[in-house]
Amino acid sequence: MRLSRSFLPTLRETPSEAQIASHRLMLRAGLIRQTASGIYAWLPAGLRVLRHIGQIVREEQDAIGGQEVLMPTLQPAELWKRSGRYDAYGPEMLRIRDRHERDLLYGPTNEEMITDLFGQSIRSYKELPQVLYHIQWKFRDEVRPRFGVMRGREFLMKDAYSFDISYEAAVDTYRRMMLAYLRTFQRLGVRAVPMVADTGPIGGDLSHEFLILAPTGESGVFYDGELETLDWLSDPVDISDSASLDKFFSNLTSYYAATDEKHEEGAWSQVPESRRREGRGIEVGHIFYFGTKYTRAMDITVAGPDSTPVCPEMGSYGIGVSRLVGAIIEACHDEAGIIWPDSVAPFKAVIINLKTGDATCDAFCEQLYAAAPEQFLYDDRTDRAGAKFADADLMGHPWQLIVGPRGAKEGKVELKRRATGERFELSVDEALAKVL
Ligand code: ATP
Ligand code: MG
Ligand code: MG
Ligand code: MG
Repeated sequence: MRLSRSFLPTLRETPSEAQIASHRLMLRAGLIRQTASGIYAWLPAGLRVLRHIGQIVREEQDAIGGQEVLMPTLQPAELWKRSGRYDAYGPEMLRIRDRHERDLLYGPTNEEMITDLFGQSIRSYKELPQVLYHIQWKFRDEVRPRFGVMRGREFLMKDAYSFDISYEAAVDTYRRMMLAYLRTFQRLGVRAVPMVADTGPIGGDLSHEFLILAPTGESGVFYDGELETLDWLSDPVDISDSASLDKFFSNLTSYYAATDEKHEEGAWSQVPESRRREGRGIEVGHIFYFGTKYTRAMDITVAGPDSTPVCPEMGSYGIGVSRLVGAIIEACHDEAGIIWPDSVAPFKAVIINLKTGDATCDAFCEQLYAAAPEQFLYDDRTDRAGAKFADADLMGHPWQLIVGPRGAKEGKVELKRRATGERFELSVDEALAKVL
């Protein structure tokens, strides 16, 4: 993308409505604009980040057998009356009436709808397990929307739902999902620690929240620092083997990790002092096993092995895709701006032309840009160098390819790593090899 022709409106001043770094930076870097309280428009750079996160989430859901669907945002009230949650959900649910006086709602979550869809088509235990997920906008009429996309009213969530024939099979599914989450967050370039959690209004008795450590987090967290050093991407768990899943889960849960609601001083004191991490955390994911709560309430059964009807055992699994954009920035920024992890950055690199209009500089930059026009942002504006550097740091591109008249003449580009400030003098080929 050429910066001179793009819609990437950066702001010099700090917007007064933003209280925390990620919200300020998202506005300043031109990722989002608010259209109503807790409702945001995603501009090109922000949308790219949202898509990159969505893609990693999708790949890890698919890797454990998840199948992607897309359910609508609007749901009929009848569905929620069948589960008993229509009245129980309260004012966070946005209720809507259509021209025929039928009650609808903007979905805050999809347990009822997926259970109904499942029940319409799945007849036998032989078709289980099923793991279905979608990445769709949700609406919750939060009392206090704040911190930008971190607590929006309309927000993008990946929600997955699982159906199993027995408790044992459902626990295996839960553990597979746990592994998929750990891998997802690691690939996103952040450490989200799973913590024992309350199940709240969804119900059930097995639940973990995933939290990213950040001073602006809304929950108090206590955990063993070892958890941040474990490498889930190379952990050779066999996801089709219960014993292997059990070993993975026992190892994971042998480390202490709890939010303030579930914190226990006794167990905490057993963690070696040098490994104790205590602070605030942002909830970016939440997984639940809740058994037959919805299948029973909505009277959904499949034929079991001896043909008697069985209510499938369910779990649900959320990731806050839009909240993650803010949470990643909370974890990855400095005074100058955002520091995107490579995997989610809107662009792999920015090409900074220090002298737009100079024939050698322009030709050199065009040559770099042509290598990956989809993945590069080319700052071809006629602004002064200082403004271009400031915008590059603010927008947080992982690499900056800096081209000046002297280097261009010698066929050299200066490559800067945003995260460390390291600089390299390289040929075009060397620079491209590092960046792409
Ligand atoms: P919170 O405690 O922050 O209100 P929640 O526990 O109500 O979140 P869940 O029902 O567990 O949320 O939803 C799954 C995920 O959706 C959360 O872990 C979070 O990442 C995301 N999420 C929930 N509410 C919001 C919101 N208002 N804005 C952005 N993301 C949200
Ligand atoms: Mg909530
Ligand atoms: Mg919560
Ligand atoms: Mg939650």
